[in-house]
Amino acid sequence: MKLEKIFRSMRSLKSANGNAKLCLACGKTATREALFNVGEELALIESYCDTMYDKD
Ligand SMILES: [Zn+2]
Repeated sequence: MKLEKIFRSMRSLKSANGNAKLCLACGKTATREALFNVGEELALIESYCDTMYDKD
């Protein structure tokens, strides 16, 4: 059974907590998190930097 990944929301990442995440696409410091639901309960968080979304 294949679980569908459903986009839920986007939120800003605060980099001041000393626990910086890295962009999934390019490996730079991430500034945003995208939240997904997988199946009914699982939450998946993927981190990206601004360059992914500045292009539109
Ligand atoms: Zn990036």
